[in-house]
Amino acid sequence: MFDALSDRLTSVLSDLRGKGRLSETDIDTTCREIRIALLEADVALPVVRGFVKQVKERARGAEVSEALNPAQQVVKIVNEELVGILGGETRRLRFAKQPPTVIMLAGLQGSGKTTLAGKLAFWLKSQGHTPMLAACDLQRPNAVNQLQIVGERAGVEVFAPEPGNGVGDPVDVARRAVADARSRQYDVLVVDTAGRLGVDEELMRQAADIRDAVTPDETLFVLDAMVGQDAVTTAEAFRDGVGFSGVVLTKLDGDARGGAALSVREVTGEPILFASNGEKLDEFDVFHPDRMASRILGMGDVLTLIEQAEQAFEEGQAEAAAAKMGTGELTLEDFLEQMMAVRKMGPIANVLGMLPGANQMKDQLAGLDEKHLDRVQAIIRGMTPAERADPKIINGSRRLRIANGSGVGVTDVNQLVERFFEARKMMKNMAGQFGLPGMGGGRK
Ligand code: GDP
Repeated sequence: MFDALSDRLTSVLSDLRGKGRLSETDIDTTCREIRIALLEADVALPVVRGFVKQVKERARGAEVSEALNPAQQVVKIVNEELVGILGGETRRLRFAKQPPTVIMLAGLQGSGKTTLAGKLAFWLKSQGHTPMLAACDLQRPNAVNQLQIVGERAGVEVFAPEPGNGVGDPVDVARRAVADARSRQYDVLVVDTAGRLGVDEELMRQAADIRDAVTPDETLFVLDAMVGQDAVTTAEAFRDGVGFSGVVLTKLDGDARGGAALSVREVTGEPILFASNGEKLDEFDVFHPDRMASRILGMGDVLTLIEQAEQAFEEGQAEAAAAKMGTGELTLEDFLEQMMAVRKMGPIANVLGMLPGANQMKDQLAGLDEKHLDRVQAIIRGMTPAERADPKIINGSRRLRIANGSGVGVTDVNQLVERFFEARKMMKNMAGQFGLPGMGGGRK
């Protein structure tokens, strides 16, 4: 899901790379493309409008940043706005002070309620809870049986009406289930309710009656992310007819465009709590707006990295260093400063692990040694300011002195100096191509 959107947005944003300044036209073009990308992904029109307006305003007013170039700033803004429409902070499930906590599931038939009931119970168990399921979908033939199978798989008890009593009254079953959960000390009761193929009054009335009978602590609206624009209308109908406190997105593993699901929070004002992405019990997770946004922007945790970089590099430092990189004037003193700033961001393997594609380099990252960095730092510290400024003057006797002073071998000093020259040459070549911060974009 969201692959097409993700590809589009990533490509729009990468078009900005290498630009030193963003003109009004750049911002307009980018915003127009973002708008098309969102609309093509089925994101609801009012949501798209609000989103693009915000991005445009913020991009125009963006301050000159020490650590980020203009393209990175736009990425940051788009990401923050995306996190915003997805709900901002992660919204955790709320538990009742007096157990049992009652969670009612509502949604159209086929949205994945029964499957979700099992997943939710399974997850609650893993969190140390003692959940029970209540079978209050007495409409669909076999729904009770299906819930019993799901319950068995998840290893949880199911409260169901006795067989052979006709259709039965779901409100009564729900009420008795709560009493049963209370008396047998289950701490969470998940109530599965009937859905219809479309929104209708009878369905809403029944769900509202169950709601009134059990006063749920959470009513979760279950939304199939594969349905297109209708999702928004259905969500609004459920909000007005039954009311809900949160949304669960299901079938996120599908290949539909999914943008409607991205609109649901903004349109209904209620947060997304969980996401379901498969038919198996454990294909289910707490929904984190920030992680979803960075997944859509296809950038690992690079945004966290951007933020940490902003904090770690002091004013002027990044810009000055980047300028030097471009001209090949970088000294070992600058290198030491940079290295210390990067290390302030955390263990080096973690910092690099946040880059996109880091998953593929897991082994190399695990082999990264902080001690090696300590050694590099010690060697540079063992040099005189003149040596740091112009490493070319480091002759044989200086090497020996530095090695002795920093407790390493002469070969270590040799290696460091050689690598530094190589790196400086490489950076000079690369700086132009990548538009490093403060580089003014370099070559275009
Ligand atoms: P209900 O009518 O709302 O209770 O929906 P069900 O739980 O019976 O689900 C309808 C269908 O969707 C079933 O075939 C489920 O296996 C399937 N399903 C539910 N959740 C997911 C999901 O996250 N991913 C996929 N691929 N299928 C799902």
